[in-house]
Amino acid sequence: MATQQAPKVLFVGSELSPFSKVGGLGDVVGSLPKALRQCGLDVRVVTPAWPGVLQKVRDAGHKITTSLQHVAVACAWQTAEATVHRIEVDDVPIWLLESNYYRGSMYPWELDVFTVRPFLVFCMQALELSKVTDWEPDIFHCHDWPTAYLPCALAWHRHYRGAVNRRGVRPASVLTLHNVAYQGAFPPGAFFEESGLDRSCFNMGGIEFYGLVNLLKGGIVSATAVTTVSPRYAWEIQTWESTQDLSGVIYSQRHKLDGILNGIDTDFWNPATDPLLPECYSADSLGGRQACRRELLKNTTFDPDWKGPLVVCVSRLVEQKGFDVILPALKQIPELGAKFIFLGSGHHWIEDALREASSLHRDSLCFFPGYNESLAHLLYAGGDIYLMPSLFEPCGLSQMIAMRYGAVPVVREVGGLVDTVTDVDAEGGGNGFTFLTYDTQGMLWSLRRAIERFSNARAWDKIRRRGMQEDFSWKKSALLYRDLYRRIL
Ligand code: ADP
Repeated sequence: MATQQAPKVLFVGSELSPFSKVGGLGDVVGSLPKALRQCGLDVRVVTPAWPGVLQKVRDAGHKITTSLQHVAVACAWQTAEATVHRIEVDDVPIWLLESNYYRGSMYPWELDVFTVRPFLVFCMQALELSKVTDWEPDIFHCHDWPTAYLPCALAWHRHYRGAVNRRGVRPASVLTLHNVAYQGAFPPGAFFEESGLDRSCFNMGGIEFYGLVNLLKGGIVSATAVTTVSPRYAWEIQTWESTQDLSGVIYSQRHKLDGILNGIDTDFWNPATDPLLPECYSADSLGGRQACRRELLKNTTFDPDWKGPLVVCVSRLVEQKGFDVILPALKQIPELGAKFIFLGSGHHWIEDALREASSLHRDSLCFFPGYNESLAHLLYAGGDIYLMPSLFEPCGLSQMIAMRYGAVPVVREVGGLVDTVTDVDAEGGGNGFTFLTYDTQGMLWSLRRAIERFSNARAWDKIRRRGMQEDFSWKKSALLYRDLYRRIL
């Protein structure tokens, strides 16, 4: 077919770094399109203009062009309109949809028929966008439950099912699973009357899961292809290894599932050019790293001349990130011969435990509550060991960033951490320290090995260098996405 050479792909993302990033999903929507365009694909992005987004775009100096035409869809017996703004960032065309539906906070705490409406409206507006833009995608690339409704609409919506584009071709859809723990599930109520989906899809082979509407499940079943963000996670989510409960559904759809490892934006995450560091450095010239370490120590309650290992952790403070195994270890920290720095926000019970431990062990544990981009860069650049004992980890970007900045990771062997970190004591050597069982003793075993190895400067330098020289860019993965797009058209 005519589009085989250069598929046109519309990324439909509920968040977009750096304007509306909440987590890794925003990073991917913000960086993968650029890499795909460098592979010759025509990839563009549509995202809601959540509160503050247009201001951030203006502050960053981007020129906004606003379309005279609105995009309009029907939802809950009303017309939902959006103003269409266009910007270009790093050569990627981006449409920002401004609507009354996107005036609240991004993700609701409680999901029900009312609170999911903005996401249904957004997906339908993405489907209608070509009427305003004169650019028609061959593929809609959706991300997690917030945009999983789009493939459902292409399969079961009374207006969109069977829709063809101007060339008479049915558009395809790709759904990327960034985190299967969040599924967009809620009681059906008046969902079918409001959304326009045919009620007959409320069954085991459709959008229903244990009596609830489950948008992620509907998307998995109805999308042309499903991807997830690492090969290991693609396997785990089909098996009993998964801590989430869609494994049976995902196993039944394995014929269309690919695990493609996330990359990081290596222009943004680059210690040789990072404007947020007091001094830049590279694998061949590590001098600047000492300045970063000094600056980091100055911000803590520790001795600024500390020469021993510095263990750092930048994380959402949630169960997923391994705090059930970290918190019981805090009382042993003074005996470990290292100093620990945590930066993060999330559950109050985790924040409280870290705060209490930092006041008890002022000399060995420091906790910075909150979200702080520049401090995060300083932790990656000044730390020696990066701690990430996740319960589950679809891909994980932090361990890749840490290695690129010269902090050696201590991770649990799960999900994308398996695909990116190899134990230094494995055959052929590795770039970090790993453990398998999800418990405090396992984590401490690996941490102690790392702390001990740190005292051998030559051995440590070799491990650190190996991590810094890994290729974590999008290059390889972008080619895998390109192959996938070509395959499904
Ligand atoms: P997840 O998306 O599950 O939170 P990832 O490791 O994939 O985990 O990505 C986390 C991203 O968010 C990284 O870029 C990390 O540096 C950043 N991050 C997490 N917590 C903070 C924080 N408190 N301050 C600054 N950046 C943070």
